[in-house]
Amino acid sequence: MLRSTFLWLSERPSVFEFLKRNRLGRGIAARFVAGESLESAVQAAQAVEARGIKTTLDLLGESVSSGTETHAARDEVIETIDGMADAGLEANVSVKLTQLGLDISETSCLDNVRRILRRAADRNAFNAFVRIDMESSKYTGRTLSLFHRDVLPDYRDHCGVVIQSYLRRSGKDVAALVTAGARVRLCKGAYAEANDVAFQDKEDVDRSFVDLMGTLLESGNYPAIATHDVDIITKAQAFAKDHGIPPDRFEFQMLYGVRRDLQDALCAKGFNVRVYIPFGTAWYPYLMRRLAERPANVGFMASSVMKEVFSHNDRSA
Ligand SMILES: Cc1cc2nc3c(=O)[nH]c(=O)nc-3n(C[C@H](O)[C@H](O)[C@H](O)COP(=O)(O)OP(=O)(O)OC[C@H]3O[C@@H](n4cnc5c(N)ncnc54)[C@H](O)[C@@H]3O)c2cc1C
Repeated sequence: MLRSTFLWLSERPSVFEFLKRNRLGRGIAARFVAGESLESAVQAAQAVEARGIKTTLDLLGESVSSGTETHAARDEVIETIDGMADAGLEANVSVKLTQLGLDISETSCLDNVRRILRRAADRNAFNAFVRIDMESSKYTGRTLSLFHRDVLPDYRDHCGVVIQSYLRRSGKDVAALVTAGARVRLCKGAYAEANDVAFQDKEDVDRSFVDLMGTLLESGNYPAIATHDVDIITKAQAFAKDHGIPPDRFEFQMLYGVRRDLQDALCAKGFNVRVYIPFGTAWYPYLMRRLAERPANVGFMASSVMKEVFSHNDRSA
């Protein structure tokens, strides 16, 4: 119930306008979002890398509705690649195709993606890599077609895609990606989806994740296991051990602000860990999806509201 409420709110720009105007909204976002500027994101990435953990920067934004905005997003992503490389970081970024114009024109979206990929290839010395995030199931087919047809042949080493274990179609998609030698990030999936498209029960989503993870660990190209689920992470380690897969053949990925203890513990055990660090002004839908994932985050939000109210009362007193 709470999950669907937050997912519903994630599509309500008027609520964002309200939250953006007050300090409280930005304060809550700060737990999951590194800041609004590239500078703040690079600083956050440097702090994470100082812990021995790799990073990917995600310029927030999705469902962009004008060509000008998609060009601005493309240029900002290119600046992000340069900003990371100039700071001596691995230039690893995540993008969303609707931020680059998928809803407006597939041709111009592809042109934006290609320009970003060309810059990534130029920055090869910094292991530059572009991950195409997966959005709602409305975009899965188009995202994967574009990736297989227009991206993979020229940019296999510089681009990867995401598969969501809650989607019923994901078994077939993983098989095709493994055959193509593509780099895949596996996650559970963060959007509200109908029963005919996606598993609704956590048990089914987790079972699907473990199945797909086995395929990717065994036959995939440096898969990314993106979850904070301790049970699944334990299974990944056991699977790798049982199948003689060394830790440098895959990585764990987690979100900025979530389970830092687990990130550090895996890193200390010698696993590759990467933290996904979002930044930018368009933080609202991302924040709502994070709140939807965990009821305890609502408690965190409520305590922030109380602190804000009390500090306001103190100031007024
Ligand atoms: C690196 C990365 C990239 C991602 N990219 C995509 C993408 O491209 N497309 C997409 O649809 N989804 C993406 N996701 C989100 C993903 O689909 C899940 O919604 C999210 O990771 C929560 O699922 P979980 O696997 O952690 O398992 P869950 O079963 O949701 O959670 C397991 C445990 O993790 C902790 N936890 C999980 N989420 C939170 C949170 N928000 N706050 C605090 N604790 C939490 C809790 O302890 C919880 O009990 C990504 C996730 C990661 C880590």
